[in-house]
Amino acid sequence: MPELPEVEITRRGIEPHVRGQRLAGVVIRQRQLRWPVPREIESRFGKQVVECVRRRAKYLLFHTCSGTAIMHLGMSGSLRVINVNTPPQLHDHVDLVFGRHKILRLRDPRRFGALLWCERDPLEHPLLKHLGPEPLSETFNGDYLARMARGRKVAVKAFIMNSRIVAGVGNIYANEALFSAAIHPHRAAGRISAARYQRLADAIKAVLQEAIAVGGTTLRDFLRADGTPGYFRSELQVYARAGEACPRCGHKIRCTVQGQRSTHYCPGCQH
Ligand code: ZN
Repeated sequence: MPELPEVEITRRGIEPHVRGQRLAGVVIRQRQLRWPVPREIESRFGKQVVECVRRRAKYLLFHTCSGTAIMHLGMSGSLRVINVNTPPQLHDHVDLVFGRHKILRLRDPRRFGALLWCERDPLEHPLLKHLGPEPLSETFNGDYLARMARGRKVAVKAFIMNSRIVAGVGNIYANEALFSAAIHPHRAAGRISAARYQRLADAIKAVLQEAIAVGGTTLRDFLRADGTPGYFRSELQVYARAGEACPRCGHKIRCTVQGQRSTHYCPGCQH
């Protein structure tokens, strides 16, 4: 699933190609994504100039002067900038056509992605309105986490993956940040000190920034047909490494299932 770093890398990859460009139309081959793509995407968005592409959590926001197209890549979505003559493949559901030569193409085999149109402030859209702060913003820090966690019995991993607490910390990066801060993922959110929450907030920022930086080196691949960013497994310390030795203390890394998501941690040094 594309997580926040992949979405940010995607945003950085596509923005230079579409910023300031007028759409010549939108082609929808499959309207049934997570929600049906509204007709306004063709009739309204399809004639606009894209002023900029922003990101909120894992949503891409294509701003125009008359509204905003809100896109989510779902479980399996990817975007590519390609030549207008490139024939569509089976799962290429949406084309944003820019000028006479260029297409921004959405491929989404599992169709959990979304493309919606919003003529009001997109940050007030029901999907975005209740999201917590961006993890890379200054609003998000140890004090904020400690304040929000007060009295909560929920496991800290579920707590930081709750998008109302902080937007866009997915499973892989939650595992990695908890390892980095040496916090046990099952520990109750309300039973962690402010100092440890400061370490955790710093760790969340660091793992996301590192993933964005590593992924940034793949930006030139955006014009390639298979230019989907990967997960940079070589950078991961605990995720998908069950049974391997902990890089910090040598204990065997363990895998459990928490709220239907896999949790990877070291029982030796995370407490
Ligand atoms: Zn360890």
